[in-house]
Amino acid sequence: MRYLLVLLLIQFMLPAFAAREPVIDMHFHAWPRGAEGPPDHPKNLEYMRSRLQAAEESNVVLAATSGPQEFLKRWSQEAPERLLLGPVFPCHGGVNPNRNQYRCFTDGGEFPDLAWLESQYANGTYQLMGELLNQYAGIPYDDPRMAQYYELAERLEIPVAIHTHAGPPMTASNCCPNFRLSLGNPLLLEEVLVRYPKLKVQIMHANPLVYPMVLDMMIQYPRIYVDVSPFQKILPRGQFHRLLAAYKEARLVNRVMFGSDGDDYESALEAYRSAEFLTDSDLQGIFCRNAARFLDRQGVCNP
Ligand SMILES: [Zn+2]
Repeated sequence: MRYLLVLLLIQFMLPAFAAREPVIDMHFHAWPRGAEGPPDHPKNLEYMRSRLQAAEESNVVLAATSGPQEFLKRWSQEAPERLLLGPVFPCHGGVNPNRNQYRCFTDGGEFPDLAWLESQYANGTYQLMGELLNQYAGIPYDDPRMAQYYELAERLEIPVAIHTHAGPPMTASNCCPNFRLSLGNPLLLEEVLVRYPKLKVQIMHANPLVYPMVLDMMIQYPRIYVDVSPFQKILPRGQFHRLLAAYKEARLVNRVMFGSDGDDYESALEAYRSAEFLTDSDLQGIFCRNAARFLDRQGVCNP
């Protein structure tokens, strides 16, 4: 009987322990949800609190958080120790192309004022750059207007996260008239990588099943890390595992970082855990250690 009790205890406690492994979420957004209006609109507050609570329950120790300036400010007040903040831009018409009624910056600019942005890094308010939304705004990655921001990020050693690949169906007719699929090819980042040889780049939504050259780019430019959200949610499980297997076979799985992009944490984490070819060490890397290395925040994965 005692053995049975012990067995039962182990059975119930193991998932609890498993759920407590540290996670860094490299694709987290401070967005409005549920209501137009300011971040303090009750529906937006409710959404914010539900996302932050879900992150806490899944032991997200750090979340790379991007969004409109006012939302970043409000969300970071709620969980200042766990959120690393980065601005979203460029913004066609000054508004965030993903949530197009919201201004990216309180001054209404399409790009952040450079001196203001540098001061945000200097005073510790922001730690990251991006999600850069060039594809939505119809502005190539190597557009001359981007140069001063890459220079700033390289000089201050700020990691830059860049949206690639695609967007929701009919994006050009819905939110973003300048959106083009052809602007999301990750190979188009190459000029940026050559011009800014020290720039740390996170290729977001990096899918080697559609863009196999992502693997060659990672080999050619070892500063590149990737996240593969939201494919854990939108692809059939077998296809998502083939995507992960492409990184594993190319021996690049140690530069894949977990990102939720708004997904439920436990189902997102399970999409990785169920890939039998990933070792425990691979999973610990994807969930935490790879991002800690990319962010130069070693230690956060070993509390
Ligand atoms: Zn994105």
